[in-house]
Amino acid sequence: MTERIIDNFGRVHNYLRISLTDNCNLRCFYCMPEEEYAFTPHTKLMQADEIRQLAKLFVNNGVTKIRLTGGEPLVRKDAPEIIHALSELPVELTMTTNGIRIDDMLPQIVDAGFSSINISLDTLQKDRFAQITRRDYFDRVWRNIDLLLDRQIQTKLNVVLMKGLNDDEILDFVKLTNLYPLEVRFIEFMPFEGNHWSSNQVLTLNEILDRISEVYTIEPLEQRPHDTTKPFAIHGHIGKIAVISTMTMPFCEDCNRMRLTADGKLKNCLFSKEETDLLSALRNGEDVLPLIHQSIRSKPKSLGGQLTENFKDIEADSLTNRSMISIGG
Ligand code: SAM
Ligand code: SF4
Repeated sequence: MTERIIDNFGRVHNYLRISLTDNCNLRCFYCMPEEEYAFTPHTKLMQADEIRQLAKLFVNNGVTKIRLTGGEPLVRKDAPEIIHALSELPVELTMTTNGIRIDDMLPQIVDAGFSSINISLDTLQKDRFAQITRRDYFDRVWRNIDLLLDRQIQTKLNVVLMKGLNDDEILDFVKLTNLYPLEVRFIEFMPFEGNHWSSNQVLTLNEILDRISEVYTIEPLEQRPHDTTKPFAIHGHIGKIAVISTMTMPFCEDCNRMRLTADGKLKNCLFSKEETDLLSALRNGEDVLPLIHQSIRSKPKSLGGQLTENFKDIEADSLTNRSMISIGG
């Protein structure tokens, strides 16, 4: 007997984000803690068949969309096997990746029928890319975006904006949507453990739209149910832009998301303190489903019960959470 996964506020949870690893081939400073970061040993990560079993359980209980993320999902050697197994489930499959290994796995990626792929790219300048990510992969990422567009896979760019870092490139990113059928998604900078977040660095939804409107005519598009992005058309452009306004205009009321960390813990919110260990239960032969329902029933009403609605009042050091790389963004 299956039962939809519903929290105490009546929100139906049908979207699962699965982190495949907390390892990564980049070192984006806003995502990884600065101090030496110890990646989780392979045996403590969900193995390919465990991911398949847990994903199937979620799908049998109403999940209709799965996003693979990380860390960098494509650094796992068995990523093609995992992608293939999940593509056989009756579910919409998506992925967020830094794009570096797309070329290595293109046939499997094309075969899996991803409904869209999000590539994270915070700058269009090669030197700045190296400064942000501490690695020199700009050209490869750019070529791989081209590969995806060539294969007509819907491609979205995730751009985390930070004042004084890359906010001078907003219009360059908008220009891309004139040339390519891309959706460029500007993301407000969020606080996580070890990322030295400060409210002064956050470029807000309104500031982003103001800057774009000085040059372009933008028109709000209809927001799909549960969508975290506020989408806009740019007059005359083939692509579009969107803003993810977690800090200034959160979307918790309509939230349908659950997160499974690479070590098999269920997080009912990106900002929640609590985690529920599904992997140990699975390995011990216990019934996992009641744990899922329990976790989602205890989901706080908004922002993990931790962040204040006015982002200027947030004390980043007082938050209890993992770093973004180990949650799975
Ligand atoms: N490695 C993959 C990638 O970079 O796309 C997937 C994991 S990454 C954690 C997922 C997304 O989270 C990326 O788009 C990244 O830019 C975003 N992200 C990481 N730290 C963030 C932060 N502090 N605030 C906002 N977005 C963040
Ligand atoms: Fe790696 Fe993605 Fe985090 Fe950058 S944002 S360090 S690519 S997980």
